[in-house]
Amino acid sequence: MKSFKDNCGVFGMYSRTPCVHEIFQGIDLLQHRGQEYCGISTFKDRIYQVTHYGKVLSTFSDQDLDYLQGNCGIGHVSLKERQPTRWQWSLGEIAVAFSGNIINADDLIKEMMARGKAFTQRYDVEIIAKIIMEAGDVVAGISALADKIKGAYSLVVLTGSGIYATRDVYGFRPLILGQGPDKYVVSSESRALHNLDLEVVRDLRPGEIVLINDQGFSTLKQLPSPRRAHCAFEWAYTASIDSIIEGVYVQEVRNNLGARLAQRDAADGGLEADLVAPVPMSGVGHAIGYHQHSKINYQEVFLYNRYADRSYTQSTQIAREEMAKRKLSILARSIKGQRIVLCDDSIVRGTQIMYKVRDLKKAGARAVHVRVSCPPLMYPCDFGIATRSYDELMARRYLKHGDINSMAQLQALETWVAEQIGADSVKYNSLDAFVAALGIPQTDLCLKCFNGIRPMER
Ligand code: SF4
Repeated sequence: MKSFKDNCGVFGMYSRTPCVHEIFQGIDLLQHRGQEYCGISTFKDRIYQVTHYGKVLSTFSDQDLDYLQGNCGIGHVSLKERQPTRWQWSLGEIAVAFSGNIINADDLIKEMMARGKAFTQRYDVEIIAKIIMEAGDVVAGISALADKIKGAYSLVVLTGSGIYATRDVYGFRPLILGQGPDKYVVSSESRALHNLDLEVVRDLRPGEIVLINDQGFSTLKQLPSPRRAHCAFEWAYTASIDSIIEGVYVQEVRNNLGARLAQRDAADGGLEADLVAPVPMSGVGHAIGYHQHSKINYQEVFLYNRYADRSYTQSTQIAREEMAKRKLSILARSIKGQRIVLCDDSIVRGTQIMYKVRDLKKAGARAVHVRVSCPPLMYPCDFGIATRSYDELMARRYLKHGDINSMAQLQALETWVAEQIGADSVKYNSLDAFVAALGIPQTDLCLKCFNGIRPMER
């Protein structure tokens, strides 16, 4: 179980025929990005909108889909709030949905309230919609966001003229364009395009403002981007393993990350083990990479309950604990007497990996070696995948201040973590190994949860 929150996914389609069923499928294919709320807005002379508390497949009814009229629309899945939101302004109706997080939301609300603006909720999406409407024009409004907002946003705005799509000037969260016969699409992840038989066109550039309508895609403006800062965690955990972000396959990165851990074990003299296993599902790509490089047999040791929710996207700690318990059961026959390399993407609090090590040992495992693809998480995320506080990060319980700056420090932390979770050994990828496995220049990545550096302050 991961204790992250606040993630979400957006989808938009312009078609020559009614397309609500495809938007519905699109947000279902992004469901892994947030499972608390979902919603769709469509346009036909006016905005039609339905939002729900719950997951896409279990909340949207045939009646809802019949009600949502039109050949274009946007959809959203979220852990945090209902979106899209619908607004009436001088240019008619618009609907707005975004993925990300505004760091300076309180300051912006204070400043806007001082100018007489009222807020119904203190939601980030309301700030975004009001900044856009205040500018009197969608492109001017989206441009104003870049000046006012500190944070991350991948945004879709539905209007009578089509769908406006943009990424913040750093490109923290992914957003990708796709197309099919007579339809043009924007999505948080490419998996929604592949599964709808649509072609990937390209990722939106950071700061690019695109209009999607019956003419296809047109770039209306390119805002200056000081640097790229793609969330490295997307490849390691957040995105679905069948997605491609910035031209880089998520699956390939996870395999590389696992292979790097195997390389480190080999360089340290080799690890005596009988099988490599993932923590399902987040550890699968990493374990396969470890297995491919080490040639140690790959074997599942947990059965994943596909009907349980993704635990990090549950909103309360109790809900997450309950969900984590229901999510995995032990495959006892694979375990007895075995020395297991257990691979996962990251350790947040450490409680869930501790339970898994305990369960494996209870089932007769002779040894459990935990291998973690991400470097130790030392800082909360400010950009939309928010760990709640420093106190909740296991590595911060070991090192209260400062960073892990050397292999010796990393090894000392690993020894401490192994003791805490009852594992025979623990190894993380170092930050250098992690970045090398991604194959993306470090200067194009956000790595703040590992090194504490906010990209805009570098
Ligand atoms: S702080 Fe971490 S999780 Fe947040 S955007 Fe940066 S890399 Fe991603």
